[in-house]
Amino acid sequence: MSATAIEALARDLRAAQRVLVITGAGMSADSGLPTYRGVGGLYDAGPTPEGVAIEDALSGEMLRRDPALCWKYLTEIERATRGRAPNVGHQALVKMAAHFKRFTVLTQNVDGFHRRAGQPDLIEIHGNVHGLHCTVCDYQTLVENYEYLSLPPACPQCSALVRPRVVLFGEALPSPELQRLETVLREGSDVVLSIGTTSVFPYIAWPVRNAARAGLPTAEINPGDSEVSQLVKYRIRAGAAQTLASLLDLLDRPA
Ligand SMILES: [Zn+2]
Repeated sequence: MSATAIEALARDLRAAQRVLVITGAGMSADSGLPTYRGVGGLYDAGPTPEGVAIEDALSGEMLRRDPALCWKYLTEIERATRGRAPNVGHQALVKMAAHFKRFTVLTQNVDGFHRRAGQPDLIEIHGNVHGLHCTVCDYQTLVENYEYLSLPPACPQCSALVRPRVVLFGEALPSPELQRLETVLREGSDVVLSIGTTSVFPYIAWPVRNAARAGLPTAEINPGDSEVSQLVKYRIRAGAAQTLASLLDLLDRPA
């Protein structure tokens, strides 16, 4: 781990008022979650046993056409989070927020760990697998564990299909989250951090790209290379949890 890069990043953060942190699957890797592709980062390459690509199984179209098949894979995403918990990296981000006027966390993760850790000003841009809602009426509920659901679940109010509040392949991003993100981007950020994500989605890479173009401090904390690795001021090739704990430690020290 590059101690000097973390120290220099901490110096830039001390001078910042508004910070945007973007997180992906690598953020939850230290909680024991896989970092493969797919909704919730669950799958490696290859089709499902049903012979469909995982992107098709976990699509809005499949949820309508074959809810049982879609729910089978939604359940696997939820199962990956069972018995897991937010790690020291999530906790460090919660504590870090107190140092700034605005500290927004934009996450692609659907595991809900940032929320469970108590992150204020959180944008779950791909949703949260634990929030369920009816596809027809206003019924909604929180479910920590899908184990006791009869699949595919039916609404207790109107018997229509219930689904998780996650963005499936082919679906639009949720508008309240998009609006909050647009507000944050309009306000601008003094520092932008990208943590544990390959930044393949344009709306994930853009804030980093834009900040780098404006000459603002940017950092990437990720063991591998990504779409933004060449653009950032600080390239920290390390895991999220330990790096964020070290960064918080530096911020907590008296200047
Ligand atoms: Zn309903």
